[in-house]
Amino acid sequence: MKRLTEEEHSNNTFGWAARDSSGEKDVAFKVLYCGYCHFDLHMAKNDWGMSVYPLVPGHEIVGEVMEVGSKVEKFNVGDRVGARCVCPKSILTYGSEYHDGSITYGGYSNTMAADEHFIVHIPDNLPLDVAALMFCAGIIVYSPLRYYGLDKPGLHVVVVGLGGLGHVAVKFAKAMRPKVTVISTSPSKKKATLENLGVDSFLVSLDQDQLQGTSGTSDGIIDTVSAQNPIFPLLGLLKSRKKLVLVGGPEKPLELPMFPLLQGNNLLLICFHKSDMGSLVLY
Ligand SMILES: [Zn+2]
Repeated sequence: MKRLTEEEHSNNTFGWAARDSSGEKDVAFKVLYCGYCHFDLHMAKNDWGMSVYPLVPGHEIVGEVMEVGSKVEKFNVGDRVGARCVCPKSILTYGSEYHDGSITYGGYSNTMAADEHFIVHIPDNLPLDVAALMFCAGIIVYSPLRYYGLDKPGLHVVVVGLGGLGHVAVKFAKAMRPKVTVISTSPSKKKATLENLGVDSFLVSLDQDQLQGTSGTSDGIIDTVSAQNPIFPLLGLLKSRKKLVLVGGPEKPLELPMFPLLQGNNLLLICFHKSDMGSLVLY
């Protein structure tokens, strides 16, 4: 049974965001940085019909521990921590019903509390403002690169879109040392992408000749575009039996061209990876 918002939040905080930190396994922390994700925009506008109001967005949350419950084992006051964006049972950081019937609230708050199971340590050598990004954008692109074996030198990884997710995907992929190609709708991004991010090639998505020249060369594609984009031209870039991984979240349903998938014996994967947070932070 749901509890009232006023009942849930007995301590003072901005944004009604913190859970009561009286639980024995709870870690309460001061929120120092919280990322701004496209998911938050969709949720604030109820684009997916799943928002629960009042809603406090924010799921790329890092900060410093203020208080720990009596049975907390892994954290101490003063530790640098972050909150996982999704728990293994798919309770979202905000807008979800927690197992005790309360509603979860996100990181656009000054404090937050969660069971220690949902908290991870941030290494001392990772600045907290950078670490915040890792809790959604970071894990979303890091996980498929690792899980699907696209993290090896000599492979050719294509990253589609160079917004927030695409930018992080390129940074990870370059660190893992495959050959990296970026596909973007914006020719104006070419110079900076090649020079500043060190990618190996840059293609404009509307230029059929450029795409044709890359046909059948890719070991895997990470499509980060959050608007509807045609996937048919992308499938042609893959070698046989390779994977196109979609990590963006367009509002409209996907149009799925089956024949190119069958023809290339390729696999289409739509991913929201949630289980690799620990390995990412340690990477
Ligand atoms: Zn996010």
